[in-house]
Amino acid sequence: MKVIIVGGVAGGMSAAARLRRLDENAEITVYEMSEHVSYANCGLPYFVSDVISKRDALLLQTPTALWNRFRITAKVQSKVTSIDRANKTVTVQNLATGETFEDNYDKLVISTGARPRKLDIPGIERAMWLRNVTDADDVKAALNALDQTGFPNKSVAILGAGFIGIELAENIRHMGIPVTIIQRSNSILGQFDPEMVQPLHDRLEKHGVSIELNSQADHITDTHVVLTDGRKIDATLVFTAAGVDPDNNLARDAGLKLGVTGGLWVDDQQRTSDPDIFAAGDAVEKNGVLTGEQTLIPLANLANRHGRLVADVIAGREVRAHAAVGTVILGAFGFAVGITGLSECAAIKAGIKHQVIHIHPNSHAGYYPGAHRVSMKVLFDPETGQILGAQANGEDGVDKRIDVIATAMHATAKHGGLTIDDLMDLELAYAPQFGSAKDAINIAGYVGNNVFNGTTPTLQWHQLEAARAAGAQVIDVRSGSEHGNGHIPGTLNIPVEELRDRLAEVQLEDVVVYCQVGQRGHIATQILKAKGAKVRNLDGGYVTWSAGTHSQA
Ligand code: FAD
Repeated sequence: MKVIIVGGVAGGMSAAARLRRLDENAEITVYEMSEHVSYANCGLPYFVSDVISKRDALLLQTPTALWNRFRITAKVQSKVTSIDRANKTVTVQNLATGETFEDNYDKLVISTGARPRKLDIPGIERAMWLRNVTDADDVKAALNALDQTGFPNKSVAILGAGFIGIELAENIRHMGIPVTIIQRSNSILGQFDPEMVQPLHDRLEKHGVSIELNSQADHITDTHVVLTDGRKIDATLVFTAAGVDPDNNLARDAGLKLGVTGGLWVDDQQRTSDPDIFAAGDAVEKNGVLTGEQTLIPLANLANRHGRLVADVIAGREVRAHAAVGTVILGAFGFAVGITGLSECAAIKAGIKHQVIHIHPNSHAGYYPGAHRVSMKVLFDPETGQILGAQANGEDGVDKRIDVIATAMHATAKHGGLTIDDLMDLELAYAPQFGSAKDAINIAGYVGNNVFNGTTPTLQWHQLEAARAAGAQVIDVRSGSEHGNGHIPGTLNIPVEELRDRLAEVQLEDVVVYCQVGQRGHIATQILKAKGAKVRNLDGGYVTWSAGTHSQA
């Protein structure tokens, strides 16, 4: 059997190596148009600033090593320019020599990835981007040149506040160069809810990254990015990081079916509309488990997984891809944000019923040194309790909590498994330096359970003004000193310890209580409920409200 793979990085190389392990006799050829195979694209932003100083560390394999260990023929600077499905051949152009030739296949695998979205504005030719090692070399050289010139007005503008834009910004700031990120929407990292990324926004600004929200580039001059409102952003160098699009020209020209998202359509065995052609990775659309709709999730974990699955299917194994939830994490300046599944904005957009909780526990036992707040938001189905998504942020422990919820959601996808209540009972590894006997995940279960079964009616930060306008009284149940240090304007302060004695001041027919993170608000809610009040606890307390309102400012 002769297998040709187009694209020699995450999906393509996973398919190639796995296929060799399953079939010692298959003839496997990988064509890669860049100068390297199997490179670590996720490490590129850290290479440009020397956080990863060894270039070789990014090159996980070379064509020689692939031949020696796996007997895989990997050809770099070799672009597949067309597919002749009737004759089962591909045309390949050697980009070094310009020579073209044909090669034939029994099975073809497409893993051509995604290309940076280029804004259609005058001057965009000057913008750089990060997709492969050669791009990273160019970016690094340009930044070093800027760094070494001593040029007084050196500056970088980045178009887009997605993952790559923010990673680039952090690394360029490490070099001491002023950076401005220009973002079209009203918050960074569009797949998150605004209050969950506001702390990262603040952290970026604290470290000297300027962020222009609700701003659009109109054109680029030799020295500036000019916004549509006429403002000029200093930009000795410009980077485009405004998202990626599936790189599927080759597949489209070959008449393969594209999906509704513009990504390549595949079945649950990663088979395209041609039974002898498979595809994996960023070029391909995924089946979203929660919405049931096709979606684009350009992430390395799915590219690797689906590449491996393609090899299994070609080798005759009966395996199928699971629907995807989408799990991702980003860190910058010591602060992390992570998400799995649906955000609240996405749930609203998809018309999916949901209940929300916010919590702000410690990453590990507060009495052990180095504990930090880890803020979490969890969405669940108000009728079944099924977990729909989670977001987390903080300096420590974000990855662990997002991964636990992602696992719980995977179980849900496959077996109809975990609900918000189940989080209460998870037995998670605990010693003081790692977690708490009641871990953040268990606390999400407790808080979620109280909301799910109606013990604690809640209100979200963005619903508070409407509640006030409808006549609700808002009471801060924290201490007087906490209230003095900052509170929601126009709110009465009755510390929870005094609440039973000051009931006369409470408007029992409609009252909202809040504390710092929601726990004392829960106690106050129970006290007032027992007195017959119609009471709601402000979910996530002052911390969530502050982040949310700040994100709208
Ligand atoms: P790729 O790994 O991009 O490989 C596609 C390859 O196909 C390319 O090398 C391209 O040159 C080649 N190719 C395209 N067309 C042809 C052709 N016609 N002929 C021959 N070769 C062709 N994901 C995460 O989950 N976490 C991260 O932290 C993360 N960070 C990232 C940082 C950066 C800077 C970038 C660029 C991506 C990052 N990603 C991250 C995304 C992740 O790298 C991708 O999801 C993953 O690599 C996709 O795998 P793929 O095989 O589909 O495409």
